[in-house]
Amino acid sequence: MLLKQQLSNYMNAGFPILYIDTFEEAKVEDTIRQVADRRTVCSWSMANGYGEYSTKTNEWLMPPTKDESTELVKVLEGKLAMDDDLHRTILLIKDAHIVLENLEVVAYLKEIAIRISRGLDCCVILLSPVVTVPVELEKYITLLENDYQNFEDICGIINRFIEEQGLDPMTPKLLEDMAVAFKGLSEFEINSLLALAASEDAGLNHKHLSLIFEQKKQIIRKSGILEMVPVKERIDDIGGLEILKQWLKRKAKVIQNMKDAENFGVDMPKGVLIAGVPGCGKSLCAKAAASLFEVPILRLDVGKLMGKYLGESESNLRKAIHLAEAIAPCVLWVDELEKAFAGMGSEGGHEVTTRLFGTFLTWMQEKTSAAFVVATANDITKLPPELLRKGRFDEIFFVGLPTSEERRKIFEIHIAKRRKQDMAKIRLSDLVAKTEGYSGADIEGVVKEAVECAFADGKDAVTTEDILAAIKNTNSLSVIMKEPLEKMKKEYEQRKLKNASR
Ligand code: ADP
Repeated sequence: MLLKQQLSNYMNAGFPILYIDTFEEAKVEDTIRQVADRRTVCSWSMANGYGEYSTKTNEWLMPPTKDESTELVKVLEGKLAMDDDLHRTILLIKDAHIVLENLEVVAYLKEIAIRISRGLDCCVILLSPVVTVPVELEKYITLLENDYQNFEDICGIINRFIEEQGLDPMTPKLLEDMAVAFKGLSEFEINSLLALAASEDAGLNHKHLSLIFEQKKQIIRKSGILEMVPVKERIDDIGGLEILKQWLKRKAKVIQNMKDAENFGVDMPKGVLIAGVPGCGKSLCAKAAASLFEVPILRLDVGKLMGKYLGESESNLRKAIHLAEAIAPCVLWVDELEKAFAGMGSEGGHEVTTRLFGTFLTWMQEKTSAAFVVATANDITKLPPELLRKGRFDEIFFVGLPTSEERRKIFEIHIAKRRKQDMAKIRLSDLVAKTEGYSGADIEGVVKEAVECAFADGKDAVTTEDILAAIKNTNSLSVIMKEPLEKMKKEYEQRKLKNASR
């Protein structure tokens, strides 16, 4: 729903405090004035102090002033002393994350919220680029998110910029590529990036796409929870896991021809859970899926979801989901899923985790956007059973230690990457025979070590013997993690999960 619509609905329904998570104060303030319905907007900000604006006459009744008498605590105190002062007003407080640290402010806002619940015609709107909801206010606050620009809006912003700057018009292809690159950014960010790009060269061209991409990566990283991962990995870089690769290829056909697929009656793919032994290619599959689908990949840092305020974790997750949907089509990679929901499902699971989990499940269940989730997990036993039920993910795969045929492929891939010229002389079967119980990561490590040793010893080629020597020096995963691996295997068999390998 558009922010404007949300604002108007919530305000008219008497929700006491609305919290808008935004960088774009001016734009949001403008929207608030549009839906204010002749109310007076009493606004306060750190930099400009307090002012009152009438949306009946569209003029300042009192222009913003900053002095001792307009400190927020004093303003709120004054308002509370006379209900009439709050009647038919919108109390707009900017820099909310800073002022909510003040307990007096929190207490006054709570009092105002209570009066609103009892019928006072007023609405408090808090603006801040980060969400910090104090416990005392939690039940009065509704979080709203500023909406992202859709594709058409972005094209409009670019065209406006070109016109204002008197630049040459773009080809339709460049306009489309640029608009896609800008997905997930705010109007302010898009305009700043356009200005940056235009200042480099006389006009906007294809060269600027990588600049936009780089800047967008930084903007997304700064938002704290998602990260755009650069992808070099291709599906052919994965040795084995044939069933999973075939499955991903089928989904790629759907994602790349979404409109046709939908018209044909195909459901929008939701995502996949890949669980199993560490170092066996789960992350590799997540990245290869993005390159196969030809879409960006966003990694969700589960550890960073947890915030210090009540409701913050959920809000972080919602923010991440919202951003991923704005960038879609994309892959949303939830790495180490078990970390987010550990302890759930067991008795007395932590309340925050439970709610976080609820938000995630509902989203997965109802999702219609082209944000394809690839969740990876090392330990499926830590995941709540609800997550494994049908309808959440399209499929759940188990990735085990590579079979001998798979080890051969993995050796081939990693040797070819570094010493293609030596490949013909290397006896792969000898290497495969000596690496039972080695993970893909172990095999990569062995090849790397052999190559480095051969170089250090002044050899001009890497031989089978060099690699065998490196194998001897390496403890396989199955030796290091014998017990947990056996337990895991049993667990997967019990749950009858689909094996990613043939
Ligand atoms: P995890 O299952 O823990 O996510 P990764 O995908 O991160 O494991 O694997 C670590 C590294 O090991 C990869 O970057 C890759 O180089 C190598 N590797 C693991 N499995 C395979 C595989 N099946 N084929 C090729 N390389 C692999």
